[in-house]
Amino acid sequence: MGYQRRGCGMWPKAGRLYIGDGVKIIGLSAVYVVSDDLGIFFMPITITFLGHAGFILEGDGHVVVIDPFLTGNPLAKTRPQDIQCQHIALTHGHADHLGDTVAIAKANNATVYGAFEIAEYVGGQGCNASPGNPGGKVDTPFGFIAFTQAFHSSSFEGQYMGMPCGLIIHMNGVTFYHCGDTSLFGDMKLLGEIYQPDIAAIPIGDRFTMGPALATKAAELISPEVAIPIHYKTFDLLVQDASGFAPQDIAVRVLNPGQVWQYG
Ligand SMILES: [Zn+2]
Repeated sequence: MGYQRRGCGMWPKAGRLYIGDGVKIIGLSAVYVVSDDLGIFFMPITITFLGHAGFILEGDGHVVVIDPFLTGNPLAKTRPQDIQCQHIALTHGHADHLGDTVAIAKANNATVYGAFEIAEYVGGQGCNASPGNPGGKVDTPFGFIAFTQAFHSSSFEGQYMGMPCGLIIHMNGVTFYHCGDTSLFGDMKLLGEIYQPDIAAIPIGDRFTMGPALATKAAELISPEVAIPIHYKTFDLLVQDASGFAPQDIAVRVLNPGQVWQYG
C-alpha cells in the first residue's frame, strides 16, 4: 500500500491511495487512515460558486462559505436562507464581500472568520466570531484558515474593517487560496511555494483589483493546479468576461454563479 501526495511537508495534502501496483482507490466517501508517511487519505471537496467573490466549500460534512454577497448581487442564483453552513470566512469588510454574512451566520449559528475588526463588528451583531490577521492561521474542525496579505482597503458603512486579506483554506487535504480583492504582489510566489494551493480564486475585474493581464501573472506566481477567475462581470464597472485571463500551464476553470464543481 502506498500513498502519493503533493505538498511541502508542513501539513497533509490531498493524495491517492494505492493498493499493490496500479490499483487506485478514488471516490470514497470517508477519510481513511493509513500507516505510512503522514498517514491520512483525503477526500475531494465540492465547490459552489456564489458569483462575484463568493464560494461554498464542502468536505466531509464541513461547510465553509466565503464572502457571501447575495442580496443586491444581480448575478446571484442562491438565496441567503438556502445556505446551511458551520463556517463563514471573509476576505474583507466591503459590502460586496461581507454581504449577507450576519444573517447567514445567525441562521446557522455559524462561526465567522475575518480580520480582527471584522470579527469585532460581526460579534457586535450577535454572531460567533473568530478573529485573525495576515500571517496568522486558525485551526478549524476541517483543517485550517490562513490569512494572507491583500493590497486593497476594507470598510463597511463607513467603519474601518481592518486589513484586507486573502484566505488559504485547507479542507480534506485540498488547499484553496482565495486571493481576496488585491493587486498583484511578488509574495504570491512565496505563498504558492509555502501552501502549494490546488486551487486559486483570483480577481480579474480590474479597476478595484487586478485586471486579466495582472491576474494572469498572479496565477503564474501562485502556480495552482486550477485557477478560477472571480470578481468580474457583476457590475458595469468591472471587466465583463474572463477571456484575457490565460496563465500558462495552469488550468482555468470559469464557474458561473450557482455552478457546482467537485474537485479531487
Ligand atoms: Zn470587492
